[in-house]
Amino acid sequence: MKPSSFEYVAPTSVQEVTLALQENPGAMILAGGQSLVPALNFKLASPAMLVDIKKIPDLDSIFLENQKIVIGANVKHVQVEENTQVKDNHPLMHEALKYVAHGPIRNQGTTVGSLCHADSAAEMPIILILTDGHVTAVGPEGERTIPAKEFFKFHMTTSRRDSEIITHAHFPIPEKNSGYSFLEFARRSGDYAISAVAVLMNIDENSRILSVKVAAGGIASCPIRLSEVEDVLLGSTLDKSDVRKATEICIRYVTAPADVHATVEYRKGLTCRLLAKALVQAKETAKKGFIG
Ligand SMILES: Cc1cc2nc3c(=O)[nH]c(=O)nc-3n(C[C@H](O)[C@H](O)[C@H](O)COP(=O)(O)OP(=O)(O)OC[C@H]3O[C@@H](n4cnc5c(N)ncnc54)[C@H](O)[C@@H]3O)c2cc1C
Repeated sequence: MKPSSFEYVAPTSVQEVTLALQENPGAMILAGGQSLVPALNFKLASPAMLVDIKKIPDLDSIFLENQKIVIGANVKHVQVEENTQVKDNHPLMHEALKYVAHGPIRNQGTTVGSLCHADSAAEMPIILILTDGHVTAVGPEGERTIPAKEFFKFHMTTSRRDSEIITHAHFPIPEKNSGYSFLEFARRSGDYAISAVAVLMNIDENSRILSVKVAAGGIASCPIRLSEVEDVLLGSTLDKSDVRKATEICIRYVTAPADVHATVEYRKGLTCRLLAKALVQAKETAKKGFIG
């Protein structure tokens, strides 16, 4: 199929983007095009205007600021994956990026675009939720910060206003010595996950959990923190009964309906298995005194 006709503009500043979005209701931002272009071709989206942001130079860098990795809107997945500051400071994010689509898509698709597309199974939204990150939105009224837990509203729906561009994503760097794990299962490598689980954990010298964060994707209408799972694990040594309690609670968070990939029961069982394995892996990396 061919897309409906649309106007195309390629501004060179953020202000011009917000103006174009404000003056053309229904206009859409084009970043890497890896999700939007297929949507146009299938006529799932028919905007009257595409606002291409590739020519804005201020949005193409990755840098560290206030213990966060800051990623500009034009930064491709592959640039984040290959960035040594990300690898050294946020190994969990580095690990999760390996699961994002295929190489050719990672070469074009942007990390901020993935957050804005907000597929409930996408990896970067899970990491942003897990680490209590945020995005910067710029619109005609100025700039605002949107915390991850307020950004993701539903599958492919965010709290971004139509006239706003997300200029940057801010991923907090995990505490030093954090153990971590990112696990997912998809029927084919590079596909969106049927279920994905991420864990960050700190333990004391007796292997008692001092802090733990657990998030999952593909199991609900948007990526979520499993806060009751975190509560039950706090202070435990993660013996078999602790893991069992955690998986029993985890099941309640799996609310996605059956689809062509999985029945409800399959997704629940899968998520519990991923969680159990991810917790053990996170504890093992924490034991190694991994520098997070
Ligand atoms: C076959 C296939 C498999 C894939 N598998 C995965 C996967 O396993 N995991 C995964 O995470 N992703 C996957 N993707 C998606 C990929 O990661 C995309 O790159 C990403 O979702 C969108 O990034 P993009 O830069 O291409 O955005 P675009 O396609 O250009 O835009 C996507 C949406 O976000 C909006 N948008 C983009 N940037 C901004 C911005 N700065 N401000 C406001 N709105 C913006 C656009 O208007 C559009 O609505 C897959 C894609 C394909 C085609």
